[in-house]
Amino acid sequence: MTTLQSTEAPLVSAYQESVADYWNKEKNPVNLRLGDVDGFYHHHYGIGTADWSVLDTPEPDRDQAVINELHRLECAQADLLADHLGAITPQDRLMDSGCGRGGGSLVANRRFDCQVDGISISKTQVAFANEQAKKRGVDDKVRFHLRNMLDTGFESGSFQAIWNNESTMYVDLSLLFAEYARLLKRGGRYVTITGCYNDTYGLPSRAVSEINAHYICDIHPRSTYFREMANNRLVPTCVVDLTEATIPYWELRAKSSLVTGIEDAFLTAYKNGSFQYLLIAADRV
Ligand code: SAH
Repeated sequence: MTTLQSTEAPLVSAYQESVADYWNKEKNPVNLRLGDVDGFYHHHYGIGTADWSVLDTPEPDRDQAVINELHRLECAQADLLADHLGAITPQDRLMDSGCGRGGGSLVANRRFDCQVDGISISKTQVAFANEQAKKRGVDDKVRFHLRNMLDTGFESGSFQAIWNNESTMYVDLSLLFAEYARLLKRGGRYVTITGCYNDTYGLPSRAVSEINAHYICDIHPRSTYFREMANNRLVPTCVVDLTEATIPYWELRAKSSLVTGIEDAFLTAYKNGSFQYLLIAADRV
């Protein structure tokens, strides 16, 4: 077990220690080989129409062609998130909350030339991400820290925008959004892309429960996002249902050499209406 004793990451629960332990050990090819394509390492899913012809690529190039296509779809997802961060200037500071290996922070810095602080409770991810920033020569502006998103220790009102890309299912949203209401400037922007369970289905389906068990997470219902935003000075300005748009990524991934075993659960959950893939952007008022 890794212990987060750093003063930078106070109040880590036993649950959070187990999540940190998972990510410290994680070396899934689906995360590493996709990032190897161009050095933007993402640990989220993709969106958009897939080019199915990659499956017909002659050997020995087929595998790499499928990987390139999956990476293109995950990069499209990161770009869509960045599109919703609002008007960012090079003087602004952004926070990538639950940053993984740091791809999203590098995407935002490349687009806005601004300061980005990425945080994760996995020390191996933080070290990996800082190495990537150094390789790209942007480590003066893009920094990664071992911190808990529920209690970041950053100064109040210091961020123009904060996002979570598939990392809100590891925390209690009432605590998370209270921290963001503190960290964001008035008029700042919050964006999340997340899987949530569909309130109209009822409670979590079997497939959603399988996803929870696989990642040691707790997928929230859609309603909780809006309730906790309203309770914490975050007013939604845009909601995009990406459920249809993410299915091609999962179908292509299920046919690739990189299957992790969770593909069928995602496809079942999306197709039976129990699970949704949403982008929510909100203004801090
Ligand atoms: N946003 C990234 C990674 C998503 S994976 C991307 O798009 O590529 C989920 C991430 O959430 C992991 O980096 C994990 O370490 C982080 N995480 C989970 N709980 C956390 C917490 N309490 N504080 C900070 N990071 C956390």
